[in-house]
Amino acid sequence: MKAIVDCNSFYAACERVFKPSLHGKPVVVLSNNDGCIVSRTDEAKALGIQMAGPYYQNKKEIEENNVAVFSSNYHLYGDLSRRVMETLRLLSPQVEVYSVDESFLDLSGIDAGELFEYALFIKHTTELWTGIPVSVGVAPTKVLSKVANRLAKKDKSGTKGVVVLQTLEQQIEALRKTAVEDIWGVGHAGSKMLRMFNVNTAWDLRNRSEQWARKNLGGVVGVRLIKELNGMPCIEMKNPLTTKKMIATTRMFGKPVYELKELKEAVATYITRASEKLRRQSSAASALSIFLVHSDNRNQQEYAPSSRSSYITLPSATYLTNVLIAHAMPLVEALYNSGSKYIKAGVVLGNIVPCDMIQFNLFEAPESANAKQLMHMVDNINFSMRNDILKFASAGTKKNWKMRQEMRSKRFTTRWEELCIVK
Ligand SMILES: [Mg+2]
Repeated sequence: MKAIVDCNSFYAACERVFKPSLHGKPVVVLSNNDGCIVSRTDEAKALGIQMAGPYYQNKKEIEENNVAVFSSNYHLYGDLSRRVMETLRLLSPQVEVYSVDESFLDLSGIDAGELFEYALFIKHTTELWTGIPVSVGVAPTKVLSKVANRLAKKDKSGTKGVVVLQTLEQQIEALRKTAVEDIWGVGHAGSKMLRMFNVNTAWDLRNRSEQWARKNLGGVVGVRLIKELNGMPCIEMKNPLTTKKMIATTRMFGKPVYELKELKEAVATYITRASEKLRRQSSAASALSIFLVHSDNRNQQEYAPSSRSSYITLPSATYLTNVLIAHAMPLVEALYNSGSKYIKAGVVLGNIVPCDMIQFNLFEAPESANAKQLMHMVDNINFSMRNDILKFASAGTKKNWKMRQEMRSKRFTTRWEELCIVK
């Protein structure tokens, strides 16, 4: 059996951990630059505040109802996510982190009669140790466990936040209660198409034949989905240690950027972040692409964002921040158009190889042991102090372009000077 453990209203729940007075009150969290609502507690949902709704459109309602509003605090959410996943790793031999707030767990070692109790134990332990409420869905397949999880979330008090789909009867009942658009992996377009075939619930879909799925539901992907709904596992647990084949860092600017100098600082900062991720998985990259998004006022009222990008293959793969920055700066200079209004930039590292398998170039000296040592030291210091204490000068110091987070809570768990004060 497999379980999926999903944090309830994760970002908003993180805010509550350090502000217990917000329990039972409506809370929302905004996306980058305080644009849209990306997390809502049940109380905020009950007020009719929509997911992904723009903040400014909901502002009146939010103020009238005393809804607590926060900017995204990724330091806090990232750290609490890590704590949730660490806890789950102690409770199951195999954990596949699926997203920042969801993990699949292998429960094949648990006796059938004890699944519900064990799932409840997972839920209580996670909540006790991290302060983050979770819902648990247990079933023979990943797709069914997602169905179970959704039902647990929808009726938190009736189910105690745990749903186990063990018997065929339990599975049939759950599938009947699940609309096609709520099946994992079906999506908006898929569900529209399925409804045209008169497939309205997960139960309807389960009863379609494999031949039908092969013809109408994207071939092998559709067949797998139907098998999973029938309790036959086809989507296996992934090895959590797989390394990323591509690493990207992109951000909207907090306010438009016009100067080349600022643009270069932003790109150097994103390269710093991306190369940290690269080193964390012990890799090196030999392809670097940069893109800049600008929004220019062409004919009075039309602001059409458009993007320009540039790509370079390095002579040999590297994980050194300074080398990557040095290669990136000429690309930014070439892309830059004076007078353009830049709103976003991004860096993508590709051709990723393990760092002990770098093919050296005949014409270039391999990376020196000193350079390697330096990177290691910078990462260690920045990780333990968590304050970007050491950085390359090209990344700048002012960062006028940094994203807006006007209502961000403190980084309680990752900054000494922002520790929670208890009186
Ligand atoms: Mg969630």
